Order: sequence, then C-alpha cells, then structure tokens
Amino acid sequence: MARATQLTDLESLIQENPTINYIPPSSPDYTNARMVYNASRTDNPLAIVQPQSHSDVCVLIKYAKRKSLPFTLRSGGHNLEGRAVVENALLIDLRALTGVTIASDRKSATIQGGTLQGEVGNTLWNAGLGTPIGLIPSVGYVGWAVYGGYGPFSAHWGLGADQIIGATVVNPDGEVIHADDALLEGIRGAGGLYGVILELVVKVYSISKVGPGYPDLILSNWEPNTKVLKLLAGPIIFDPTDIHKTFVQYNAEYRKLEAEDIPAELTLQQTIFNGPRGRAFAIRFVWGGDDLEEGQYWSRKIAALGPVMVNAIVPTTIPEILANTGAHVPPRVYGSALTHNVRLISSETAEAIGRGIAKLPNNPGTMMSIHQLRGKSTKSQVASVFEARDPHFMLEILGFSNEASMQSEAEAWAAGVAEDVLRASPGNVLPTGYISLYNSHFQANSSEEYLEKTYGSRIEVLKILKSRFDPENVFGLTVPTLNTLK
Ligand SMILES: Cc1cc2nc3c(=O)[nH]c(=O)nc-3n(C[C@H](O)[C@H](O)[C@H](O)COP(=O)(O)OP(=O)(O)OC[C@H]3O[C@@H](n4cnc5c(N)ncnc54)[C@H](O)[C@@H]3O)c2cc1C
Repeated sequence: MARATQLTDLESLIQENPTINYIPPSSPDYTNARMVYNASRTDNPLAIVQPQSHSDVCVLIKYAKRKSLPFTLRSGGHNLEGRAVVENALLIDLRALTGVTIASDRKSATIQGGTLQGEVGNTLWNAGLGTPIGLIPSVGYVGWAVYGGYGPFSAHWGLGADQIIGATVVNPDGEVIHADDALLEGIRGAGGLYGVILELVVKVYSISKVGPGYPDLILSNWEPNTKVLKLLAGPIIFDPTDIHKTFVQYNAEYRKLEAEDIPAELTLQQTIFNGPRGRAFAIRFVWGGDDLEEGQYWSRKIAALGPVMVNAIVPTTIPEILANTGAHVPPRVYGSALTHNVRLISSETAEAIGRGIAKLPNNPGTMMSIHQLRGKSTKSQVASVFEARDPHFMLEILGFSNEASMQSEAEAWAAGVAEDVLRASPGNVLPTGYISLYNSHFQANSSEEYLEKTYGSRIEVLKILKSRFDPENVFGLTVPTLNTLK
C-alpha cells in the first residue's frame, strides 16, 4: 500500500479510537516525537501513535497485524542504535503508559511498559523499597531490564532480568495475556520479541530510612535475617596527566584486590569521559551494605589504586545518585557504540584500552564505561535466555558526539578501540556480547551472526519460543530481530 493510502487508512482507525494520540508527518510535533537518544537515526516513521491505555495498544496491534503494517515500539528511546524508529514503519510510542504499583506484601512492584528508570528508582525509594536499576534516569526501565540490565546492586540482587517474576503482554493477535513460565524465560533476555510488554512484575526489596536525614536503610528480604543497608556512593576521579598509565595501574592493582574477595555490596563502574579539564578516568563507586565502616574501608582501598584528584564518595540516596549521573549524560548524541565482554581486564586488555582512551576525542558525547558482572548475576535463580553468565567486564565503547560534525571521528575512535581490544587478547573476549550495546551493523555480517554473538547457546530456545508465541513474526522490528536487520 502506498504511504498516502496507509495514512488515510490509519486516520480512519484513529477516528474510531480517538483516545490514541496521532502524530502524522504533517504535524509540527512529528520531528520531536520521532527523535530518539541516537540523533543520527534519521528514519522517518509512517506516523507516530501514542496509546493512552492497554486497550489502545490492543487496537493498534490488531490493526497492524490485519494490515501487515510493520511497526516498532518505543519507550525510553535509548536503544544505542536508535532501533525504535524505522523508515516507513508505524512508531508505537509507549511513553504514556507509566507507573509503579507496589504489591500489598511489598515484595514486588508492577511497572508499566513505558516507565523510565528515574521514576522506578524514585518511587520505590519514597516507599522505602529498592530494586536493581541502571543509573541513567531517562532510560526506559523495561528496555533496560528485559535485555539483561547491568547496574549497581546486581552483584548482590542479580541482573535486572533476574528480578522479573511476571509480565502482562499484548500478543500478536492484539490480546492481553499473562506470561507463563516459558514466555517469561524469553522475556528475560530477549525482551519484546514476542509482544508488547504492558507491565512487568519485578522483585523489590524492603528498604527503610533509619535516623534523621541519614541514609541508613533496612533491607529486610535480601537475606533471611534483616540487615541494615547503608548507601555510600560517588565518583573517584584520578589525576588524568597520564591516563593510559593510570588506567593500566588501576586495573593491575584491582586484579590483586579481587583475590581478597571484593564484597557483593560493592559496585565499581570505570568511566572515561571528557570533563571540564579534558580527559578523565573515574570510578563510579556504589556501596550498599549493612556496615558503613566496611564501605568506607573499601572506598579507601579503591582510592588507593591510583593517583586521586577528587574523591566525592558520600552517604547518599537513590534519587541523588540518579540526579547526579543523569546530569552528566548528553540528552542526545550522534554516532554508534561498540562492545565486548572480556573475562578480565588483563594487562594486555588494559594496555589496549589505555592506548585507546589516551586518544579519546575531545567531545562530551565520546566516552567509555565498564560494568563488571559478578556475584549473584553470574547465576540466575530463574530461567532466562540471557547467555553471558561467566564473570566478565562489559565494555561500553561509546563512539558518540554531541554534534553531527564530530560523529565520524568518534565512531573511528570506537572502532579502533574495539579492534585493538580484540587483537591484543582474543582469548580474553567472550564469544557473546551484551545485546543492548552490541552494534548489529558493525559487529555482525548477518542476522544469524548477530543472534549467535548475542544469544550463543540460547538461540534455539529463543526460536522455539518465537514460533510458539509469534509464529508469523508480527513483532519483526524488535530488539532482537530474527529477520533482516534494520
Ligand atoms: C545513556 C545510556 C545509558 C545506559 N546505561 C545502561 C546501563 O547502565 N546498564 C545497561 O544494562 N544498559 C544501559 N543502557 C542500554 C539500555 O538499557 C538499552 O538500550 C535499553 O533497551 C533502552 O531502553 P529504552 O526503553 O530507553 O529504549 P527504546 O529505544 O525505547 O527501546 C528499545 C527496544 O526495546 C524494546 N522495548 C522497549 N520497551 C518495550 C515494551 N514495553 N514492550 C516491548 N518491547 C519494548 C523495543 O524492541 C525497542 O525497540 C544505556 C543506554 C544509554 C543510551
């Protein structure tokens, strides 16, 4: 069907269902509404529709299936490749479907499909609860959790995907279903491959503030015995004079510390970015444990791993951490990201990364960030298609820039770092990488290779579930996709 005819037809549907907000290409709101985090994704969707209720979503999926109309789903819009927008596909924008509802036993919460991380973290905190989240408030919670979900607290509570205990989904026939165990296994790792996730039910952990204005927390269902959790967080910024040497030295010392059994209460994210004084190497330190003194002991230990310029670790709250980290991320960037999962930051890998970060282009969008998967995240308590459970470091090599004119420089830098990491120590790179950071165009030559490199041995399960829950591939333009990459 020609584009104009498709639009006329769609308009009839909207007239019959006026609660759906409709943004056609002729609307002054279209340009903003089609924007995602990756501004270099310039695809023009057929139109944008914003369902206001679960039944609106059902109407739209039934319609799309009946008309064989390709569509995409968007919530936070932070897929690194911008895959929530595809040329000529209908964009179903779920951002109006937000909210966090806490169960009466306070052991789980129901999170709507379009809710952002910030709302999840802040709402739970205000209710004396917590759950693993990523620390950038504008990222969609469902989009973060269903593909894995790295973040602080995952060493002791598990990954975001491991928290999922229920889901309400709109299936390819436009019907609302409650996910059974098989569908939950697929959702935990492969997200929206089987339907629109209207709601996720996730485990939450009871946290209450103790003492006036002091962020002591009681975490009652983390361990069988009630524990008092104290939150200590902030950046340690090292002297950037010789960033290559400092990075290599930090990681050599960190490897020795790991032999001491670093507690699960501690999360360390290495970040390399451009600060006001140029290139910077920092550790984002988060301690959530019952002994504040132990947290302080670890903050001193970590600070001793390099030449410290700033140590801003303080007792804090989830809302404060979210606000601080969110403030350092540009709202929109141009370019692309690359990733590798490496078993350890060995001396060869550290040298390769060190060489790369010493050449980090001078742009606030160009960055590198390193998450560590360890502790409880290495062993899921529930079935999932998330493959990479061996302890590892997930490298986010962010070839982005805040201006289109510097995009190619940033991308060339990221490609050089990714290549060097692989060349320096191929045996240290795990066969599968994290789908949310994986670049389907630069890191894979075909859809099959993309699936293999992101799901490894779990591909068969993923495909069996697809043939059971979406045999006609109505959800074809999702992350992941089983057909031609878009
Ligand atoms: C600045 C930044 C920081 C990040 N930090 C982290 C981090 O710390 N840890 C980490 O693990 N990842 C991180 N990521 C990756 C991020 O978690 C993923 O890209 C995530 O999928 C983004 O979700 P979204 O809803 O914002 O994106 P969108 O682009 O809106 O969605 C991505 C895809 O998810 C699917 N989807 C989203 N919502 C639904 C739904 N309700 N139902 C069905 N399918 C759905 C769709 O296929 C959609 O195309 C970060 C990304 C960015 C840009």
